[in-house]
Formats: sequence, structure tokens, C-alpha cells
Amino acid sequence: MGIPLLDLKAQYLTIKDEIDRAVLGVLDSGKYILGPEMKALEEEIAAYCGVKHAVAVGNGTDALVLVLKAFGIGPGDEVITTPFTFFASAETVAQVGAKPVFADIDPVTLNLDLNRLEEKISSKTKAIIPVHIFGQMLDVERVMEIAARHDLKVIEDAAQGIGAEYRGRRAGSIGHAGTFSFFPTKNLGAYGDAGMIVTEDEHLASKLRMLRFHGCRAKYYHEEIGYNSRLDEIQAGILRVKLGHLDSWNEARRVKAAVYDELLAGSGIVVPGLDPAAKPIYHLYVLRSEKRDSLLERLGSAGIASAVYYPVPLHLQHAFKYLGYREGDFPVAETACKQALAIPCYPELTLEQQKQIAQIIRQ
Ligand SMILES: *Cc1c(COP(=O)(O)O)cnc(C)c1O
Repeated sequence: MGIPLLDLKAQYLTIKDEIDRAVLGVLDSGKYILGPEMKALEEEIAAYCGVKHAVAVGNGTDALVLVLKAFGIGPGDEVITTPFTFFASAETVAQVGAKPVFADIDPVTLNLDLNRLEEKISSKTKAIIPVHIFGQMLDVERVMEIAARHDLKVIEDAAQGIGAEYRGRRAGSIGHAGTFSFFPTKNLGAYGDAGMIVTEDEHLASKLRMLRFHGCRAKYYHEEIGYNSRLDEIQAGILRVKLGHLDSWNEARRVKAAVYDELLAGSGIVVPGLDPAAKPIYHLYVLRSEKRDSLLERLGSAGIASAVYYPVPLHLQHAFKYLGYREGDFPVAETACKQALAIPCYPELTLEQQKQIAQIIRQ
């Protein structure tokens, strides 16, 4: 039998009774949108992240769009982010009419290189979107210092990192706002689309609540052109159950990662590079190798799933051609795209399976 990159069915079976009860409870309640489950989830996520406010939205992409909108970012503005991330981190900047500006990444952690960030700031820059890639936080306190010097907003794209920490502070809690995705494959995943924004700023939270519901505070009185972006009661109920397991799942991922680190030591393969102040949650365990493509093939023929995150850096995506970037502009990100390979790393993966995977890689 093969080994998938992630086994969502196996995870469901470990919590089936709790999940089924939560879903049926919502069906029975007669409340399906903007109800008590969502409200409770908001409070629980805010507490989990150690912030005052959480605002539930339809998905992690909308979370970014709504924050950008709430900060008044639009045409004529620039927002700096990493080219080594999922498309949405920069797509959303373009969606609100602003211009994404990229900065290269650190060759060890693959997060934004904070030594190269400030040189990208111009008079048009309004915000920075640091991304906690693969579930390892970068130093957002340092990003906040840079931002303070230039009066910029910091939006943590923590879609891959709920529960990750940096010097004891959780992902999403340090920037002016933090956004999460609960897409099924994320480390806290719904059984559909869902997202969340966390912030200490009460005014921002209130504005986000208005924007997610058609720009409306009092029903049928619309202050602004808004969105329809809500986290439904069924997904909220599911996420509340899963949140109760998140710390143990994150810990299990760290244990699996440490096992791989050891099994692959001395193999010539580059294992995930760590910032010593970070406590990652391994949304993905990503290796790097010059022989990446043949490794992927070899694993595939042994029935082991692996996947390339990400095959094309954002500055070279067709959709961003109009920005005028060229190959060679961000060499670290470009090399990462040629070498990175995610291998199975999830709580239900067994030690036997890990040994089997490591053996094939070592060969
Ligand atoms: C998944 C992801 C998103 C988008 O989240 P959706 O819920 O799929 O809209 C944004 N940024 C990053 C880094 C992601 O990994």
C-alpha cells in the first residue's frame, strides 16, 4: 500500500465521534451562518493565539483581502512579500488594486530575508506581508521594527502556521493582523473552506466584521461596498473539535520531523533549515536536493507521494508578468523552487513508514 502526502481520512477516523456529533448538532440547531459556533470559534482562536480579537471569514485568501481593504490599501500602493509562497499571498495584493513587490528569501529558512527587506521599501509602500512558510515563523518583531521606521502595516500570512511560535509568541499575534487558512490540508483544516483573522486592534476587528458582511453593521444599512465572506456553522463546529487536538497534532509533526532529520543525516539531502528562535509546526516537511526530480520519481515508483512546493516563484508566474520581473531577480527563491520537495509528515504517519521513506531517499 502506498503512502499519501497527507491522510485526511485517517485523521477523521481518529476523531469521528466528536466530529459527527458536532456536525449533527449544527444541523439540528437550525442556525447555519453567523451563529454561535462561529462566535465560539472566534473566541477560542483569539485565546489560542494570545490576542484580543478574531474574525472568521470564508477562507485564507479572503482573510488577506479583507485586511488589505480594511487598511485602505489599493491602487497606487505597494505591498512587499515573498516570492516563495502560495500564490494568494501576492494575488490578494493585486486583487485590491495594489502592486506586489517581492524580496528574496533566506537560504536556510526559506522565509523572507529580513536583511534584504528594507531596500524594497519605497514612498509607495504601505504594508509588508511576511509568510510563515511551511509552518516556521520568521522574526515578526523585527519586521515590526522595520515597519515602524516607515509607518507600514504588517500582515502575517500565517495560513501554514497556526500554533507555530517565535520566542514564545504565536503565529499571527505579532503583526498588526494575522491571517489563517483552514483549507482541509492545512494543519488545522476544516472539511471545506474557512479562514480567520486575528488582531489586537478592536477598531480593525469591527471594520473586518462589517466588510465580511456586505459592508453592513446594522442589517440592510450598508456603510461600504463589502464582501460576502463567512465561516459557516458546520465548519466552525468541526474546527472547534479539531482545535482541541491541534497542540498534540503539532507536537506529533515535530516528533516526525525530528525522526526524519535523524534518519536523513549525512545523506547529502538538505533537511528543513531552522531559525533557533522558532518553534515550527511542520505544515510541510520540505527537503532540498539538486536531484529533486529524480527523487520525486523514485519515491513515486515506490508508492510514496511527494510534492513540489513551489514549482514556480511568484515573480516568474505568468499572471505577474506585468510586474516586469525576470529570471535571476531572486536567485535564492528560484533555487528553492528547483530543489524543494515535501515528503509525507503528518501525525498518523508511522515510524515504519518513515523508515521506508528515508531508506528510499538515502538510496
Ligand atoms: C493556503 C494559503 C493561503 C490561502 O488560503 P485559502 O484558505 O486556500 O484561501 C494563503 N497563503 C498561504 C501561504 C497559504 O498556504
